[in-house]
Amino acid sequence: MSNGIPKQPMPLADLDASKLEIHLAATLKDLPEPSSLLFGETKTDHMLVVEHEPLAGWGKPQIVPYKPLELDPASHCLHYSSNLFEGMKAYLCPDGVPLLFRPDMNATRMTLSAERLALPPFNPDALMALIKALVSVEKRWIPQLPGYSLYIRPCLIGTRPAMGVVPSNHATLFIIVSPTGPFFKHDGAGVKPVSLYASFDHVRSWPGGTGAFKLGGNYAPTFMPAYRAAQEGYQQILWLLEDVDPKETDAIEANGAVDVEKKSSEMRITEAGQMNFFAVIVREDGDLDLVTPPLDGTVLPGVTRDSCLELARFHNLPTDDPLYTCLPGIPATRKVYPCERNITIEELARLHDKGRVLEIFGAGTAAVICPIGRVGYRHKDILFPEYPGGYGPLSKALVETLEGIFVGKVKSTWSVRCE
Ligand SMILES: *Cc1c(COP(=O)(O)O)cnc(C)c1O
Repeated sequence: MSNGIPKQPMPLADLDASKLEIHLAATLKDLPEPSSLLFGETKTDHMLVVEHEPLAGWGKPQIVPYKPLELDPASHCLHYSSNLFEGMKAYLCPDGVPLLFRPDMNATRMTLSAERLALPPFNPDALMALIKALVSVEKRWIPQLPGYSLYIRPCLIGTRPAMGVVPSNHATLFIIVSPTGPFFKHDGAGVKPVSLYASFDHVRSWPGGTGAFKLGGNYAPTFMPAYRAAQEGYQQILWLLEDVDPKETDAIEANGAVDVEKKSSEMRITEAGQMNFFAVIVREDGDLDLVTPPLDGTVLPGVTRDSCLELARFHNLPTDDPLYTCLPGIPATRKVYPCERNITIEELARLHDKGRVLEIFGAGTAAVICPIGRVGYRHKDILFPEYPGGYGPLSKALVETLEGIFVGKVKSTWSVRCE
């Protein structure tokens, strides 16, 4: 500029749900038979797409007929894995309104994943409004049957159409949805506990890594170990990480001698497959510790994880507290202590030998709670207690309460209606 003052760049447009345009499909698909649904296979009529351009910022969000994306072959996401996603579900309320469960947690988590990959930022409330709009449009896809829901998959990908190894200032945010049945068939046979292979040679996450973010890049390297575990007869992997006490290593390094023998050789549990890990440990006095690894950067901050911890907290509150929800089947006199602490596979095995492990399970949106029956650990199997119906006493109480909240049968401030 002539006065020598550099021109202020225009502020980039934030994601704005009020700019949403809806272009409905001319013909709608036939709805599939609910019993034939396989997770993530069914495509609905519409999707939501919004693009971010480097100079303009976020454009107009659009709900359009479901179709393939068009990507330049040089797109950043195809080369450098600038891909992230979320997973959540909408259930139908008895009055026919779709209900979301704590969608603010997913929206915020997605902004953190975007920040971690240096993808364009966006306002989480706008994302939530767009999710609600798409769910409202696709509401007819939610089967009116117990346990059925609409799985919602918001994604953000870097679309900078060049191969330079720099952050992607072009991006596409899209949301697709897919009707889905209960993870465990409600056929009266109950839930079958899964088997896990404790992995010593492959790690999912590590200190300073990206395990706490929902990135596509965290998933790709897990398929080969999972495939090998399946060949050995295990359904998923129990992810471990060497449990080195940082104080201990500091002291060793300060002495100038790295004595490997002195480092702890125990392996701490991080996650169970793509779920957060929980162990229910019985205290001497019969109260329960609900143990799950802390959010130290190696664990995904799951919405289901947080909700299980909160429900345990609520169980212990005095009855006149407005947040009070007693866990069904667990007497109010039996306290349930939420414990975010590290637990090693060796400690779990020792507690199991003493008969103090009531149950272990995974928690996540897809299965809600998945009991774990068997863990393959150093060439032998640890067999955890089995219960009629599959769930142990605490996980049964948690799953019942959560499923009640999902469909609006249990009133909760966590429920958000899509109207
Ligand atoms: C998504 C996910 C979970 C579960 O998170 P929810 O918000 O409860 O669905 C747990 N672990 C990993 C690795 C995940 O990607």
